[in-house]
Amino acid sequence: MSKKTLVDVPDDVIAGHRILVRVDFNVPLDDAGQMLNDTRMRKVLPTLRYLRERGGRLILLSHLGRPGGRPDPVLSLGNLADSLGQLLDTVVSFTPRLVDESALEAVETLQEGNVLLLENTRFHPGETKNSPELSRRLADMADLFVNDAFGVAHREHASTVGVARMMRAEGRNAVAGMLMERELRFLRDHISDPERPYMVILGGAKISGKIDVIHTLLPKVDLLLIGGAMASTFLRAVGLETGKSLVEEDRVEIAETTLRAAGDKIILPVDCVVAEELARGATTRIVERTQVGVDDRIGDIGVRTREIFADALAHARTVVWNGPMGMFEIPPFSAGTLSVAHSVADVTERGGMTIVGGGDSASAVHVADVAERMTHISTGGGASLELLAGHRLPGVEALSDREEI
Ligand code: ADP
Ligand code: MG
Repeated sequence: MSKKTLVDVPDDVIAGHRILVRVDFNVPLDDAGQMLNDTRMRKVLPTLRYLRERGGRLILLSHLGRPGGRPDPVLSLGNLADSLGQLLDTVVSFTPRLVDESALEAVETLQEGNVLLLENTRFHPGETKNSPELSRRLADMADLFVNDAFGVAHREHASTVGVARMMRAEGRNAVAGMLMERELRFLRDHISDPERPYMVILGGAKISGKIDVIHTLLPKVDLLLIGGAMASTFLRAVGLETGKSLVEEDRVEIAETTLRAAGDKIILPVDCVVAEELARGATTRIVERTQVGVDDRIGDIGVRTREIFADALAHARTVVWNGPMGMFEIPPFSAGTLSVAHSVADVTERGGMTIVGGGDSASAVHVADVAERMTHISTGGGASLELLAGHRLPGVEALSDREEI
């Protein structure tokens, strides 16, 4: 069912009204609580600007980190208020509360275009429990709810799902923000009817978290290229020696059935970068996949595999990439991932569509310096995987349907 987005909301429902916006300001922090980068804040600026230009009175809700239902000064959203103010070129007020009298008072003083940041939703024990009481108090604060927090759309929390349901039940709207709309357009809509050849590259640490994705995608893709640690489990499934590589023993059997069902749609690495330790400065060798020794650990795809992947991708019109090809964080094992990043970027250059999902994959694309050359880089790791697996997102399901007034 089609959900309402910001553009479905008439301007007079925004002007002068209290707009509760769930954003994802879960920015990376260093040990002292200093923000390492503000990408997540920048991504919601279009939604915030749209609402301010139309005279909305903005109340922003976000989580930050995992405080476990208790206040933690390092994770206070107050630490982000000034940075947000600079990005928006306005004063962002902050209230150290989420829902109580002082928060309500702060809301009442908001003028058109003003922005108020509430405290970290996860300081409240009701947030992750989707508590009706917290949802009710949040709903009481506003006339319209906008969810632009794609990164937590797969979570059923009070500030994502509970509040939306509560407001709709009372005849108010809950709609998708611009970032949410864009994520859904690429990771759900475009992929449901992709231009072909359609290829998916999967990698990363584990099969277990991505087996649903593999099964959902297999019937739809023309080719599935597999690298990363998950490739080791597949190599074991075809009976090869994988030494001390990260293999999920309890997934070898499902990998075997998956390969049988896939026919020639799955391409596995033919060679690998191996070392005795996956560590900085390790001595590496590139070996055929049949030549992995009992003491070896596979840390990356080999040179021939990179070429095979590049040749396949040279024909792709749609590419989805999730999961690095190796332990790309450390130099001896980063070349495979960087090579794939460039091959994918070349697809965009030839007019194809390229979509990157997954937190580590997104950072690999930045390390490879090809972020500007991808059609879409998702801001949500878990949420993007859920969509690729064909699952619905509770945070989206909770929004108003197009047919509602
Ligand atoms: P994403 O966040 O893009 O979904 P994942 O979280 O699934 O990706 O996996 C990323 C992690 O997988 C990285 O930390 C990377 O070091 C690790 N990884 C990839 N290949 C290997 C490998 N061969 N051995 C060990 N770790 C690997
Ligand atoms: Mg990850």
